[in-house]
Amino acid sequence: MNALTGIGMTSQRTRDRMVRRLAEKDIRDPRVLRAMAEVPRHLFVDEALAQRAYEDTALPISHGQTISQPWIVAKMTETILQHGVPQKVLELGTGSGYQAAVLSRIVPEVFSIERIEDLTRQARKRFRQLGYRNIRTKTDDGYKGWPSEAPFDVIFITAAPKEIPTQLFDQLAEGGQMIVPVGEGPQDLLRLTKTPEGITTENLGPVLFVPLLEGVVR
Ligand code: SAH
Repeated sequence: MNALTGIGMTSQRTRDRMVRRLAEKDIRDPRVLRAMAEVPRHLFVDEALAQRAYEDTALPISHGQTISQPWIVAKMTETILQHGVPQKVLELGTGSGYQAAVLSRIVPEVFSIERIEDLTRQARKRFRQLGYRNIRTKTDDGYKGWPSEAPFDVIFITAAPKEIPTQLFDQLAEGGQMIVPVGEGPQDLLRLTKTPEGITTENLGPVLFVPLLEGVVR
C-alpha cells in the first residue's frame, strides 16, 4: 500500500462513486467517465484536502487558484469530443494539472500553459509520477498561445478572459474549437468553431472560473 493506491476516501471505490454520480447527473461519454475513474484527483489537491477530492466541488489549490469541479471538467471534456477525438489540445491555465491529466487519457497530445511557475512545477511533477507522458507544459502567459506547436484542434481555456482572445484564432486548425469562459462574475462558457466561412459561436451556459490574467509569476 502506498500513496498512489491508498485506502478509504482516496480509493478506487470512492473515485468510482464520483463517476457514478456524474453519470447520474448528465455525463454520458464513456471515454470521459473512464478517464475520470482513472485519474486520482486526490493527488492534485493539498494533502489536507485529499479527503474531499471526490466531492463534486471546486477546491482551493495554492496561489489563490482552484481546481475545477469534477462536473465542469467532465462537461467541458465531453463537449470537445462531440465531433471525434482531437489530436492536439492546448490548455491555458494548468492549475493543479487535473484537467490536463483527464484530457491526456483520451487525447494523443496535450499542451498546457500556466502563468505561475510554482504551479507548473507541481503539475509537471504529478504527471511524471503518474507516468502521463503525453502532456507538455510551460510557464508563460497563455494569451500568447504556443505558436511553435500550432495549429491545435482544440484550445481549452480554464480561466476567464474579459473578452474572447481572438488573437488565438490563428493557432486553431481549420474545424478546430476554442472552449472559453468569457466575462466577469458568472461567465458564459463559449464554444467558438473555426469554419471556412469564419468563426461560429455557441453559448454552453453560465460558469464560474478564476480570471485569466496577463504576465508570468516566477
Ligand atoms: N485547469 C485547472 C484549473 C484552472 S484554475 C485544473 O484542472 O486544476 C486557472 C488557472 O489559470 C490558474 O492556475 C491561473 O494561474 C491560470 N492562469 C490565469 N491566467 C493565465 C494566463 N494568462 N496564462 C496561463 N495561465 C493562466
